[in-house]
Amino acid sequence: MSLISRNLQAVHDSIAAAARTASREAAEISLLAVSKTFGPEAVIEAADAGQTAFGENYLQEALDKMAAVRAARPGLQLDWHFIGPIQSNKTRAIAEHFDWVHSIEREKIAQRLSEQRPAHLPPLNVCLQINISGEASKSGAAPEQAPELAHAIAGMPGLRLRGLMAIPEPADTFERQRAPFKQLHQLFDRLRMQGLALDTLSIGMSVDMAAAIAEGATMVRVGTAIFGQRHYAK
Ligand SMILES: *Cc1c(COP(=O)(O)O)cnc(C)c1O
Repeated sequence: MSLISRNLQAVHDSIAAAARTASREAAEISLLAVSKTFGPEAVIEAADAGQTAFGENYLQEALDKMAAVRAARPGLQLDWHFIGPIQSNKTRAIAEHFDWVHSIEREKIAQRLSEQRPAHLPPLNVCLQINISGEASKSGAAPEQAPELAHAIAGMPGLRLRGLMAIPEPADTFERQRAPFKQLHQLFDRLRMQGLALDTLSIGMSVDMAAAIAEGATMVRVGTAIFGQRHYAK
């Protein structure tokens, strides 16, 4: 058994344990393997262990990796999720090559992705990224802007609004990790009550997965716990 497949098994076990503690079904929580900075061979190893969804932050790195994986394993069907900051000049390639985008924080970027989504592909699944820690330097739309943005995105034909994503400030205890997730969960419920058909709460990474699952995470984005430490500052 490879290290990556053992790590994946351990992450699935942690998800199951956190779900049990939260009286939830583990099947409600999907695992996004964040493969940024790791090469195509790591993706293939994870795919061989049954992982199908991969998250990437950097467009060029992701496109190179997708091409290498396709060349090595022509029949392999993977879902690619873009989870990094989006510049306007990158939207076309993102719309053409990804299945999901988690990091939408502005209407203009959403509009471009919708217009540039190729007609032969299904609508691009998207999450609105929310800044729940409230710091000016952090990515994400302010929670107060979320309803207006979410309704605007929900009306865009090239997109399918699936839910919310957030990356809170690191915190050292379970309860401190949980607090911002709770805020996001409440916002998620409010938007659903306003009639938006959201099914995805994209929260939780290697270190705060259990707190996110306690607050309703339906997709955890895990890199380090699967692939190991990243060796450069990405
Ligand atoms: C890198 C990254 C992750 C994974 O973080 P780990 O701590 O390695 O699990 C998740 N989400 C986003 C947006 C990231 O950039």
